[in-house]
Amino acid sequence: MTDYTPPLRDMQFVLHELLDLPRVLHECGKAEIDGETIDQVLNAAGEFAAEVAAPLNAGGDHEGCAMPQAGVVTTPTGFKAAYRQFTAAGWTGLACEPEHGGQGFPDTVNNAVFEMLCGANMGWAAYPGMSHAAYTCLKANGTAAQQALYLPRIAAGEWAGTMCLTEPHCGTDLGLLRTRAMPQPDGSYRITGTKIFISGGEQDLTANIVHLVLARLPDAPAGVKGISLFIVPKYLPTPQGEAGERNLLACGSIEEKMGIHGNATCTMNFDGATGWLLGEANKGLAGMFVMMNHARIIVGVNAIGLMEAAYQRALAYAKDRTQGRSNSSAQENRAAADPIVQHADVRRMLLTQKAYVEGCRALALWATHLADIEHHHADTARRAEAASLLALLTPVVKALSSDLAVECTSLAMQCYGGHGYIRDNGVEQYLRDARIIPLYEGANGIQAMDLLGRKVLGDQGRSLGNFLGVLRAFITAEAGNAAMREFTTPLADLATEVEAVTRVIAGRASSNADELGAAAAPYLRLLGHLALGWMWARMAAIALQRGAASEEAIYASKLATARFYYQRLLPETRGLSAIIQAGAATLMEPAVEML
Ligand SMILES: Cc1cc2nc3c(=O)[nH]c(=O)nc-3n(C[C@H](O)[C@H](O)[C@H](O)COP(=O)(O)OP(=O)(O)OC[C@H]3O[C@@H](n4cnc5c(N)ncnc54)[C@H](O)[C@@H]3O)c2cc1C
Repeated sequence: MTDYTPPLRDMQFVLHELLDLPRVLHECGKAEIDGETIDQVLNAAGEFAAEVAAPLNAGGDHEGCAMPQAGVVTTPTGFKAAYRQFTAAGWTGLACEPEHGGQGFPDTVNNAVFEMLCGANMGWAAYPGMSHAAYTCLKANGTAAQQALYLPRIAAGEWAGTMCLTEPHCGTDLGLLRTRAMPQPDGSYRITGTKIFISGGEQDLTANIVHLVLARLPDAPAGVKGISLFIVPKYLPTPQGEAGERNLLACGSIEEKMGIHGNATCTMNFDGATGWLLGEANKGLAGMFVMMNHARIIVGVNAIGLMEAAYQRALAYAKDRTQGRSNSSAQENRAAADPIVQHADVRRMLLTQKAYVEGCRALALWATHLADIEHHHADTARRAEAASLLALLTPVVKALSSDLAVECTSLAMQCYGGHGYIRDNGVEQYLRDARIIPLYEGANGIQAMDLLGRKVLGDQGRSLGNFLGVLRAFITAEAGNAAMREFTTPLADLATEVEAVTRVIAGRASSNADELGAAAAPYLRLLGHLALGWMWARMAAIALQRGAASEEAIYASKLATARFYYQRLLPETRGLSAIIQAGAATLMEPAVEML
């Protein structure tokens, strides 16, 4: 039995009706990937997610990973077979280049597939997810020889990839990292140091693991300007490109943690391990950022997968569980109680989940399609515009989706009452699994400062101006559509409000840097609502237009959810604006002893 239903129709709505992806792909020189092909991929991936990955989710959580002997890590029962099936079907290479044996699909389709895998089984999906992030980093930074050696094997899923940044004393502040790289006469480096919390640092799924490790050269400047990036494989490749001699690195332990028990979180000891420089010396952080930016979008997508899965369970439960009489059916209903889905407060919880999951999905796939445009579009101006919007919205996709995943999986549990807290009912796992997402790939507070400090104020508001321009062009285009005013009027007001608070913060932050940190988190949520509001307005416009000629339930459902979002969730922005304007004083004035 499977507890996960792939949200295929909603994905099709976003990819075809909202983004018109086949047309965009045509402009990006990928005309062979038409609508029918996209649907075939989504259907097949959904089948894998529901029938192969999802049935392993609860078992993987209960059993977890193990370390039966020093340095050896085993994944839960069934994970290996599922991974073999996945690679045999070519899924690891879906968005890899054909020259590396991949299928050349756009990231937009790959991320829709990844959402389903994560909704079905996040612990399992994180293994191929991390490898794909490593693929993008090697592709962006590797020499031709490095690409030829590693990329086909990662694309085929034979070798996996990791990212090794974190050390015990150094998480957010990578300038503190101590892992050393000593140059060797043959051009390689000896890497020595300890990395912690490395996802998939050791596992039993692949023949080799390619660690991408941040370390310092002996003469490196202090801080972030002295960090270099290295390729450090578990097994040193032979001249024929096979996994050869064991490298001097090992997993020291795996973490006991709150969730994603099926994904091994490893302490990795590098004891003079052989590695090779990836990209330029002392520019490792910039090289790693390719991977981190990619990973930030995919962890946002991961969060959406969990929200969707938890919502599906909560909705099914609410239709089945009878408690209390609903106001509407109490007179005629002979049963002692009605399904809880009829109660207004339960509907509040369900619709909040639905509005956020569908809004975040639209936003994340829209952001991903910008990545496809940035990399493949024929028109330089379109590429530049897409890059600017994507850079601005990447921290929003990561932090907003992950914060909302924690809120929504908690609401899903709330719909179950006390039964949600009981392990056997399955919904609590989503909340435990979701809780890591606001923490890793840059904690959400850091994402918020990246958004406000670097992306908005750092470029004197140009990217924000681009975004507001695109959004206002939509409002102008809908100006003659009276049915859209319930959405476009509050959206236009919110855009004006965002501009106003941005000016306030910029003014204050010029004389007090704490003003930026104090405003960052509510600012990210405020801008997140603007982006979600735009997505919901666009979806409402499609629903109004297509719903007039179609009986299909999705259009009425989109319109109803858009109204719910605008009337019951978007007004949160008024409070956020007030919080931002309150400034830093009440945060920074109390002495530390008063905290
Ligand atoms: C399950 C799991 C898997 C992981 N996988 C990987 C992996 O594969 N590879 C890898 O390299 N790492 C991985 N990590 C590490 C993860 O990325 C870090 O935990 C994360 O970057 C935060 O670092 P930290 O835990 O040291 O927290 P800290 O950096 O100590 O931060 C603690 C808190 O302080 C805040 N803070 C820190 N500095 C500032 C500042 N300047 N201004 C304002 N607030 C600040 C943070 O936002 C956070 O809320 C993983 C972690 C876990 C738990």
